[in-house]
Amino acid sequence: MSTAVDASVAVTEQEDVENILGGKKVAVVFVLGGPGSGKGTQCSNIVEHFGFTHLSAGELLRTEIKSGSENGAMIENIINEGRIVPSEITIKLLQEAMIKSENDKFLIDGFPRNEENRAAFENIKLSPEFVLFFDCSEEEMGRRLLGRNQGRADDNIETIRKRFGVFVESSLPVIQYYDSKGMVKKINAAKPITEVFEDVKTVFQPYGPKATQMPSRE
Ligand code: UDP
Ligand code: MG
Repeated sequence: MSTAVDASVAVTEQEDVENILGGKKVAVVFVLGGPGSGKGTQCSNIVEHFGFTHLSAGELLRTEIKSGSENGAMIENIINEGRIVPSEITIKLLQEAMIKSENDKFLIDGFPRNEENRAAFENIKLSPEFVLFFDCSEEEMGRRLLGRNQGRADDNIETIRKRFGVFVESSLPVIQYYDSKGMVKKINAAKPITEVFEDVKTVFQPYGPKATQMPSRE
């Protein structure tokens, strides 16, 4: 009997590997850091210079709310309380976005946020190339969140406090886990945008310039 069980597990795992992105092979970098650490801003710079596609887990969830999906109200409640949406929802959105894209290198911004997220993503047999961690003090992140005025319902003092709490309690352990495997590239994110990007560039240099970049016409 144990043989039969082993065999079925083996088949399932093999199917997973092949079907997870419809057979598509991708390279993924996790971009992590507290709320307001500059993940989205720096991801835009990386996209421009190194040809990655930016997938913000938070943006995908906000789009899902707006699309009027059946999970929309539930996702909205969780985000407004600064808590973390169940992995299967976020992972499905990330998978769909990677399959739909013509690109094969992705920045996954703001995910995984807790151990459950991380373990669930490991189950789809996709390991990140490395983890980019934007390190910033709460004081500075709080200033940025309250100053940025992007119309986000969760950028208010009360929810920001909860998001900081969730970051320290649930997300930092994920960063520590990857750090223990030597996979974290830590960036001092408390500096101005251009200075932070200088450090980011050093990390991404081995990935070469954006392939489609045209020589400048002058
Ligand atoms: N969120 C989530 N899972 C994710 C990413 C985001 O549940 O994988 C939710 C969570 O409630 C978070 C919110 O979306 O507080 C906003 O996330 P985003 O990354 O956009 O913002 P950040 O907090 O990093 O500024
Ligand atoms: Mg963001």
